[in-house]
Amino acid sequence: MSDTTAAKIDGKALSKRLLKEVKGRSEACAAKGVTPCLAVVLVGEDPASKIYVRSKEKRAAKCGIATRDHRLPATTSTGDLLGLVDQLNKDPKVDGILVQLPLPEGVDSDAILLAIDPRKDVDGFHPENLGLLMLGRPRFVSCTPQGCMRLIAEAGVDLTGKRALVVGRSNIVGKPMAQLLLKANATVTIAHSRTVDLPRLVGEAEVLVAAVGRPNFIHGDWVRPGATIIDVGINRLEDGGIVGDVEFEGASERAAAITPVPGGVGPMTIACLLSNVVDAAERRAGISAS
Ligand code: NAP
Repeated sequence: MSDTTAAKIDGKALSKRLLKEVKGRSEACAAKGVTPCLAVVLVGEDPASKIYVRSKEKRAAKCGIATRDHRLPATTSTGDLLGLVDQLNKDPKVDGILVQLPLPEGVDSDAILLAIDPRKDVDGFHPENLGLLMLGRPRFVSCTPQGCMRLIAEAGVDLTGKRALVVGRSNIVGKPMAQLLLKANATVTIAHSRTVDLPRLVGEAEVLVAAVGRPNFIHGDWVRPGATIIDVGINRLEDGGIVGDVEFEGASERAAAITPVPGGVGPMTIACLLSNVVDAAERRAGISAS
């Protein structure tokens, strides 16, 4: 055991700074007659989704971003939802469209995500936006990986030449995360459920991003001394507590810096979403050329 303790990378504080910046940019859009607007589509009664949507809308309002709330019953058909998406795509006052996942069983999620205009796809889930990221020319980058990159920057890590390990290969976290690390010139490994000898890979990683969804899955004593750890996992325990994918105490004894759960990646995700909305509004207002 070393006598050092990792620095905590404070996602709460960083997200506050980012939201302040987003608010300033939103006000600059408003001064040009463009109020940034996010359409939020919630289908069904999933309690966690309701909470997420409410907190996104609350934050948006604080940043001067208008929201259009579309709540639909769980019985909504793929066709009806496609109709709504089409309407929002065509509405010139809507900058971003967010369809809260998961959609109820029976709704074709892939068809819905594909139907969203890629220029309004502020979640960054559309294949065109994922493809642009793959080509190293990102437009909308999915919010959680984007937040992770901002946290790594906050920790003062220059990724060039660093060995980075992403544990998890989902389309919304693991894969885009690996692409962003690659773009930043890290040497990237992606681990998943079929990976052999994960402890060895973790032990080699100078930067570790865990996105698995299993409580305390990465043991503290696997961690390479001096590593930077970004813990994406949000796992609810039976006692109601929330922990990440990384054993926080043990890992803190070895790492140089680590994100806490909660208070790390989570708050950054919403802030990056709203930053994406304002990116789109700036394009509408002619503020940025990209
Ligand atoms: P997901 O789609 O379930 O993907 C989990 C990944 O973990 C899969 O690629 C899976 O591998 C891999 N995995 C499972 N068991 C493994 C094992 N034994 N060894 C190595 N890899 C293993 O989850 P996700 O959507 O990416 O989310 C991951 C976690 O992040 C969840 O806890 C989620 O709640 C959290 N999350 C947090 C935020 C935030 O804002 N903080 C946002 C999104 C997600 P296979 O592909 O081989 O199955």
